[in-house]
Amino acid sequence: MLNIDLHCHSTISDGLLTPTKLVEHAAKRGVKTIALTDHDDVAGLDEAREVAESENITFINGVEISVTWRGRVIHILGLGIDPKYPPLAEGLAGIREGRAGRARKMAAQLDKCGIHGSLEGAYKHVGERRLIGRLHFARFLVEQGHAKNIKSVFKKYLVKGKPGYTDHRWAALCDAVDWIRGSGGIAAIAHPARYQLGKNVLDDLLHEFRQLGGAAIEVITASHTEDQVLVFAQHAQRMGFLASCGSDYHGPGESFFDLGQLPDLPAGCTPIWHDWDVAYE
Ligand code: AMP
Ligand code: MN
Ligand code: MN
Ligand code: MN
Repeated sequence: MLNIDLHCHSTISDGLLTPTKLVEHAAKRGVKTIALTDHDDVAGLDEAREVAESENITFINGVEISVTWRGRVIHILGLGIDPKYPPLAEGLAGIREGRAGRARKMAAQLDKCGIHGSLEGAYKHVGERRLIGRLHFARFLVEQGHAKNIKSVFKKYLVKGKPGYTDHRWAALCDAVDWIRGSGGIAAIAHPARYQLGKNVLDDLLHEFRQLGGAAIEVITASHTEDQVLVFAQHAQRMGFLASCGSDYHGPGESFFDLGQLPDLPAGCTPIWHDWDVAYE
């Protein structure tokens, strides 16, 4: 079992634990190196780093950037970033503004199908930074009894073709990679199996990402099956990508993998941390 976790969320985006509570939880779970990767926001990094240092955990600055590529939503992780790098900070601020507008549209659509007050309801689940996403709507809808749990509420209301889903233009892939690399970080494609891309489209994405300067893909993540882990380990080796691993933890009761319980990377992968000075055992 690896004790390195390079993908998780706090209340700065759509996680349930504050950065402090998240890192304290990681410490209890025996995590030795952690990256906080909130969606489109870096505001939790200083707090998380401080707690990590006091717990003797190596801390990596991270972010998960929402991208639109060929009409699809793709998530790009930035690891080892400088959160103060102006193009990154400004780019993320732009995405957050877009989230607020999208949330109003989602609420208007839900209104039309008889679910009222979802904007205010979702915002009740949002942290101080006011970053809003589908998971905040999901928590409101479950609370109101529109579905029995988060998974089914997504299926029923929050995915493409359902009333609460609205198409949205996120950052361009080239911009996200530039912001990450410009700030000194490594860009990694998050949970690559989740996009359900056909062979040719996946190949296009991997090639374009590599050409833009992307250097890694997530191989271990909660949403990958054991087979998908092996498939993406092979893609990483074939394409010369570093392999990353993270739980994509969002909080107690909402995540398939807890912090600190990730399987090992398959043999033959070059871990993204191969030349970092970090602890993981
Ligand atoms: P957003 O970036 O606001 O569109 O929301 C995406 C987030 O919603 C993801 O990071 C997950 O936290 C959550 N999410 C998306 N799909 C699902 C699903 N099927 N079940 C549970 N959570 C999901
Ligand atoms: Mn999320
Ligand atoms: Mn994601
Ligand atoms: Mn995530």
